[in-house]
Amino acid sequence: QKVPNWQGEVIESDYPLIQNGKVMGNVTIAFYGPYYFTDSDVAFMETLNLLLLVVSGIAIVMALTVGTIMARRISRPLSIVMETANEIAKGNYEARSKSHSTTVEIDALTDSINELAETLENQEKLRQRLTSDVAHELRTPLATLQSHMEAMIDGIWVADASRLMSCHDEIVRISQLVGDLEKLARVENEAFRGERAPVKLKQIVENQIKNFESDFYKKQSPIEFECKTEDLLMADNNQLNQVVVNLMSNALKYSPDCSPLKIRLYETSSTMVLEFEDFGYGISEADLPFIFERFYRADHSRNRTTGGAGIGLTISQAIIKGHGGKITVMSTLGKGSIFKIVLPKTSVI
Ligand code: ADP
Repeated sequence: QKVPNWQGEVIESDYPLIQNGKVMGNVTIAFYGPYYFTDSDVAFMETLNLLLLVVSGIAIVMALTVGTIMARRISRPLSIVMETANEIAKGNYEARSKSHSTTVEIDALTDSINELAETLENQEKLRQRLTSDVAHELRTPLATLQSHMEAMIDGIWVADASRLMSCHDEIVRISQLVGDLEKLARVENEAFRGERAPVKLKQIVENQIKNFESDFYKKQSPIEFECKTEDLLMADNNQLNQVVVNLMSNALKYSPDCSPLKIRLYETSSTMVLEFEDFGYGISEADLPFIFERFYRADHSRNRTTGGAGIGLTISQAIIKGHGGKITVMSTLGKGSIFKIVLPKTSVI
C-alpha cells in the first residue's frame, strides 16, 4: 500500500552467478525501499500511534492529578502554619498550629513555630509578673515613707533624727531593690555575656572571705575553706564575685551566731565545683523549689529584718547559667543548706 507522502519503492538488484568464468545464472534480490509499507505494517503503526496517544493522555492526566494532590498536601499545612505565624505576629501568643504533614521538614517548621509561640507566651507572662512583682515590692517601702512624711508634715510626728533615719532606711531599701533589678536585667540579658578572661576561683573565694571576715567574726561564725584546685576558668570575674558574695551573705543572714560556713572548691574530670555549706536555719521542702525565683523569700518575717528582696539567688542563677553551669541547693529546715555550683571545665585553660 502506498501511503500518501510516504515515498517508497521496491528496489531490485541483479547479481550474476559465475563459476569458472562462466555465467551460471542470475540472482535478483529485491527489498522494500524506505517508507514502503504493507497494509498490516500501516495498521500496526496506526494502532501503535493511537496507543501512544492514549498512554500520553493518561500520563498527563495522572501527572496533573498527582501534582495537584502533592501540592495541596504541601501547601495546606504550610498555609495553616502561616496563619499561626500571622496570629503570633498580631500578639496572640496562645496560637498553636495543629497541622500534621507527611513531609518531615513541614512538621519541623510547625514544631518550631509552636515552640516560638510558647517562648513568647512565657516571656509575656514573665514580663507581666515582673511588672506586678516590682510594683508590689516598691509599694510597701513607698507607703511607709509616705505615711511617715505625711505624719511629720502634719505635725503629728516631730521630724527628729530617729524618724528621719527610718525614712532614710526605706529609701536605702528602695535604691537597693532598684540596683538589684538593674543587675538582674543585665545578667539575664542573653546578648550580654559579660567578659571572659582567665579567672582563679580560689582567688575570688579567698578575697571574699577577707571581705566578710569582720561580719562573720562579729557573729563568731568560723569560715572553713577547703581548696583542691588552683585551675583557671574563662569567666567574668565581677559576675563570679557577685555569686560568691550572694551565697556568703545568705549563709551569714540565714544562720544563727556561732554557726560555721564551710566552702569547698574541687574539680571532677569535666567540671569545677564550688560548695557552700551552712548550718543555719535551712529551707523548708515547700520553699525549696522556688528560692531561685525573683522576689521569693522563704521566711517573710525574718527577711523583713535582714532586708533581702529575694533577688540574690535569681541573679546568681542567671550568672551561672550564663557561664554554662548549674546551681543547685540541698537543705533541711533547722539544720542548714548546701549550695552547689558546677561550672563546665571546657572553659578551663
Ligand atoms: P534575699 O535577698 O531575700 O536573701 P535570695 O534570692 O538570696 O534573696 O534568697 C531567696 C530566699 O531563699 C531567701 O529569702 C531565704 O529565705 C532563702 N535562702 C537563701 N539562702 C539561704 C540559706 N543559706 N539558708 C536559708 N535560707 C536561705
